[in-house]
Amino acid sequence: MDDHALVLNAGSSSLKFSVYRQPEAKSWQVDARGQIEGIGSSPRLSVKDDEGRVLADQKLDAISDGRAAVSALAIWLRARYAGAQLLGIGHRVVHGGARFSTPIQVTRQVLDELYGLVPLAPLHQPYNLAAISAVFEHMPDVPQVACFDTGFHRNHAAVAKVIPLPRDLCKAELQRYGFHGLSYEYIASALPREAPEIAMGRVIVAHLGNGASLCALKEGRSVDSTMAFTALDGLCMGTRPGAIDPGALLYLVQSLKLSGKDLETVLYKQSGLLGISGISHDMRVLLTHTEPEARLAIDYFVYRVAKEIGALAAVLGGIDGLVFTAGIGQNSPEIRQRICEASRWLGIELDAEANRGKGSRISTPRSKVSAWMIDTNEELMIARHTATVLGLR
Ligand code: ADP
Repeated sequence: MDDHALVLNAGSSSLKFSVYRQPEAKSWQVDARGQIEGIGSSPRLSVKDDEGRVLADQKLDAISDGRAAVSALAIWLRARYAGAQLLGIGHRVVHGGARFSTPIQVTRQVLDELYGLVPLAPLHQPYNLAAISAVFEHMPDVPQVACFDTGFHRNHAAVAKVIPLPRDLCKAELQRYGFHGLSYEYIASALPREAPEIAMGRVIVAHLGNGASLCALKEGRSVDSTMAFTALDGLCMGTRPGAIDPGALLYLVQSLKLSGKDLETVLYKQSGLLGISGISHDMRVLLTHTEPEARLAIDYFVYRVAKEIGALAAVLGGIDGLVFTAGIGQNSPEIRQRICEASRWLGIELDAEANRGKGSRISTPRSKVSAWMIDTNEELMIARHTATVLGLR
């Protein structure tokens, strides 16, 4: 077996991983990709190789948390890669705060500092960090690299970063960061190959998954994003509301007497598509429902994306291309069509047939602004960063 590097994306109930072979040439090749799902309920390990052949698909004994999942994964890795060296592990870490923006090798002190950011990303950060901590425990000799979802946005101008609250409350930390940076960085790196005519232009990328945001790219660099201090701002998401009147939050606290913890639960877990519909957070499920509440949830999702596209088009001074990615962006022709129709005024003319096909360009040849669908690959971005930080080639 070749020496390899591992990429981990740890969530609340799943641990996703990819194993990359050390390249002879420049690009890292996937050797295996899989996940442990059902952490805390009925855990299952499933792994496939690069060609989709099943390498493992089995129930696991009780796995109570992310630490236990890393331990189970370590056992599987030792068996499959016996005799080979694990050169490093790259992690997706959602929030790097004001201090960490570029990928960094994690020490125990760095880990402690990252734990301080948990209140800014309670849905993701604790699980990302539990995986790092478990690697320290189960594979202490393997170097680890943290790659931040905030990092790609670090060069935003001051006006795109500021939060207009009193200066002494803001200090250094309270600023707009932006998220989904690993996805946007990958898309920016793929544009010269997938959509060369817009790669150096003004592009809006719509990362539409359970979490959803837009990024304004100019010459491949992020200039603004709809997410901000936390991953709550901007678009309507599966269970998060996106931008709302801050007065609504005051009302929840002062009149309805919600505690800080209650408010956190409402904002991260009960709002968005789930909150509006009362049916599901999942776009695929909502698209099969005809109840008015389900329709309103989808209508609001589309309305909000279109509205924010207009806002970022203003930031960019017009756009050359619109790119859809992530679960909804890559898989739902209906949602892409509705967003493109609402953005027709910008000069986007959708090609209905291309939108239902597998190609990346989904606008007509005469469309003034082109539209695209490009699969994201955050894992590859993490593998590239990990290789660079650890000097692997
Ligand atoms: P995460 O943010 O958790 O990584 P994903 O990028 O996997 O999320 O996106 C999950 C979302 O994508 C869910 O709302 C799911 O319903 C939606 N989705 C996946 N496939 C389809 C599809 N064929 N049509 C509509 N929505 C889809």
